[in-house]
Amino acid sequence: MSARVLVVDDVAPNIRILEAKLSTEYFYVLTATNGPEALESAARDNPDIILLDVMMPDMDGFEVCRRLKADPAVSHIPVVMVTALSDMADRIQGLEAGADDFLTKPVNDLALFSRVRSLVRLKMTMDELKLRRQTGQHFGQNHSESEMQVDGASVLVIDDNRSDAKHMERHMGERFRMTFEADAEKALALAGTHPYDLIIVSLDHRGADPLRLTSSIRNIPISRQTPILLVGEESDAERVAKALEMGVNDYILRPIEASELMARAKTQIRRKRYQDMLRQDVEHSIAMAVTDPLTGLHNRGYFDQHLETALQRLKTSGKGFSLIMLDIDHFKAVNDTHGHPAGDRILKEFAARLTSGTRGFDLTARYGGEEFVIVLPDADLRLAECVAERLRGMVEDQPFDTGEEAGMISVTCSLGVAEACADDDRASVLKKADQCLYKAKQAGRNQVVVAA
Ligand code: GH3
Ligand code: MG
Ligand code: MG
Repeated sequence: MSARVLVVDDVAPNIRILEAKLSTEYFYVLTATNGPEALESAARDNPDIILLDVMMPDMDGFEVCRRLKADPAVSHIPVVMVTALSDMADRIQGLEAGADDFLTKPVNDLALFSRVRSLVRLKMTMDELKLRRQTGQHFGQNHSESEMQVDGASVLVIDDNRSDAKHMERHMGERFRMTFEADAEKALALAGTHPYDLIIVSLDHRGADPLRLTSSIRNIPISRQTPILLVGEESDAERVAKALEMGVNDYILRPIEASELMARAKTQIRRKRYQDMLRQDVEHSIAMAVTDPLTGLHNRGYFDQHLETALQRLKTSGKGFSLIMLDIDHFKAVNDTHGHPAGDRILKEFAARLTSGTRGFDLTARYGGEEFVIVLPDADLRLAECVAERLRGMVEDQPFDTGEEAGMISVTCSLGVAEACADDDRASVLKKADQCLYKAKQAGRNQVVVAA
């Protein structure tokens, strides 16, 4: 794995030591010697992980970390604090600032590499999500990781040690919904049916191999993205390293310090929620890419693709279809008289009537401003003409309610109908329907014209 590591330390020899270690494992090392430089490099170089010294003059590591985690542009970059102290108060302060973990100087190689690798993997997932989110139009707010709420998160604890469980219940129960399960099989069943925000697994579970258990959790579709926090002993270092390689997100060593446990749990839950938000945004933007926001109908881009597919099917399997093209009459005058918002209300209601007047497998799309198209599979000209006539009536018969200001407004529309044939392409079938629509306008509007 090749990744870019930003090493921040005010003491040059400390940088050299980490740089040498990381280079032998083919990491690309960037350096900064103070807080402002680190913030600058994070924004400019998009490193995959930051190893951050705690004690630096002017701006210390905690402050740098807090600033990184509050900035949506860089809040997803994992931060590991490197400290000479193993003072618990410092660790908590760092974790509260949003750091992912601590390494104590002198840095142990196994801990360094397993931590860096697992965090870099996480960062790559986040980068991919952020990229896709940029590609799509994104509608969500630009939140940072530190803004994610953690209260009420649901946590599953898989542990057969009763005193551990009691300890966790006492310290986490107030803010999280805790579920304890000692039996590994039952715990897996729970993880398969409930989307937990965090799963805590004890490394010395007597009933099951905890590493196997974590990999089983990773294979359950709804738990694939759920963070896993391991609880282990100082002597478990090798297994912890292996677990991190396998995709476990974090670990805590016994004796469990309550505030450290809370801080680590919060970091994992915050990050999960941040990832969920990015993911939802991506899904939303995929949906939005094919949807017209005003009417909720499919947009022109989607329609063009659908029409192409329908034409291919006609050529290969002879399944025919017809096309109706509609355009609201004198719509410019409606806007001019009653205002654009009233016009928008009419467009929405017009779309709703088209949907209710067609079959579930007909495809209705907004083709342009006040122009709509419908693809009717398995409909010949005669059937399509009946549908078109019915839709014309549904528009004319009922005035459109545009709300208090402009009130009820009557509108009509003109429609052109054509049937696709095997030698049509997209342009030619659209042209046939459009020419009919034009004739309907010419002949006085509010009518249906069918291709000869
Ligand atoms: P015709 O009967 O010949 O179709 O006349 P028309 O006025 O409907 O046609 P024209 O193409 O001249 O004008 C279309 C109007 O539709 C102009 C534009 O302001 C309006 N329009 C297009 N998109 C929207 C929209 O999203 N909202 C609103 N309110 N009006 C729109
Ligand atoms: Mg019009
Ligand atoms: Mg028009």
